[in-house]
Amino acid sequence: MAHGFDTLQIHAGARPDPATGARQVPIYQTTAYVFRDAEHAAALFNLQEVGYIYSRLTNPTVAALQERVATLEGGAGAVCCSSGHAAQIMALFPLMGPGRNVVVSTRLYGGSITQFSQTIRRFGWEARFVDFDDPEAIADAIDEDTRAIFCESIANPGGYVTDLDAVSALADRAGLPLIVDNTLATPYLCRPIEHGATLVVHSMTKFLTGNGTVTGGCVIDSGRFDWSASDKFPSLSAPEPAYHGLRFHETFGPLAFTFHGIAVGLRDLGMTLNPQAAHYTLMGIETLSLRMQRHCENAVRIAGWLEDHPAVAEVTYAGLPSSPWHDRVARICPKGAGALFTMRLKGGYDACVRLVDALELFSHVANLGDTRSLVIHSASTTHRQLSEQQQVAAGAAPDVVRLSIGIEDAEDLIADLDQALASAAG
Ligand SMILES: *Cc1c(COP(=O)(O)O)cnc(C)c1O
Repeated sequence: MAHGFDTLQIHAGARPDPATGARQVPIYQTTAYVFRDAEHAAALFNLQEVGYIYSRLTNPTVAALQERVATLEGGAGAVCCSSGHAAQIMALFPLMGPGRNVVVSTRLYGGSITQFSQTIRRFGWEARFVDFDDPEAIADAIDEDTRAIFCESIANPGGYVTDLDAVSALADRAGLPLIVDNTLATPYLCRPIEHGATLVVHSMTKFLTGNGTVTGGCVIDSGRFDWSASDKFPSLSAPEPAYHGLRFHETFGPLAFTFHGIAVGLRDLGMTLNPQAAHYTLMGIETLSLRMQRHCENAVRIAGWLEDHPAVAEVTYAGLPSSPWHDRVARICPKGAGALFTMRLKGGYDACVRLVDALELFSHVANLGDTRSLVIHSASTTHRQLSEQQQVAAGAAPDVVRLSIGIEDAEDLIADLDQALASAAG
């Protein structure tokens, strides 16, 4: 019987502990696992049998989380890792190589822009930034060396939704995998695989854990991409020397990417999620749908209230009827447009700085997707090294404040914004 989302967010990947009967997933704070005998050890090391060897690769608590996120996203398998940024490297690692490129959306989390535009160049990888509302520009950016297409579902800094159906159709025609960062939507609001995504990545640091307690990431594989259709993905289709010439795609089929991620990615890059963090994330996911419903309800109400406020020039929330992306919300994330949006203050830079200082319930932090409401003035913090032109392009102009709406009482959040807007104007 196929279960619903609310059931799966609690039960997927969890079963009574085989050793003790413990009902909740135990924290296996453990490094190594005893082999039954030499033959068992050899089978594990040959990838002929699935089991636990060493926690850099696999750990029972982390495995439960992997199964849960894979189930919620409708994927074949998942690899958890130490952060959202680690997940992006883990997703690209089997696909890329020196001289290869990935075509990415200009609308991305600030840290992802830095990772893609600066750091990955040291691996000889290139990211080509394109406006993902311009299909021709995406097609033009793709060449013989392109190995993936990357975007966010609901995208930073909030208020934008990518047309995943259009982008995945384009990726299909080019024979390339589409990687979707689903951090801001979560699988409760959007399931990118149903819109044609090959891989889904998350910063579990945000809504999945939900309360600002851990750093974690994951990559979920749809299991649908044919890695052997061309010679572009030799890590998955060609013989792997470190495993006696085993071909991951031929051997593991829809689990090829997941097995490669664990047996090569985690083994050699070591971006492993610790079991304690996996436990907190499992706890968080149990209430994901309830939290996302409240996040979205509050965001719609507060964005609507701010839109009518005389001190506010503009609110960019895709959940508002005034948003140019409002129609896409109904198709891509019908249960809601998430909890992140920006507003522009008529009082400019100075009013924004006074606002963040005057807010009491909203915390001024470089984070999002917490049960607590958060605010940041990007131009004076995360984006302060950029020119004003670059700030505007990134949606972080000097008069813009980004809000991440929590699950407190909406009345209290509105009262806090009301007093802070008054003192920002004064
Ligand atoms: C936070 C975030 C990341 C990076 O995740 P970390 O866990 O901080 O490494 C990537 N993408 C999006 C959309 C994010 O919000």
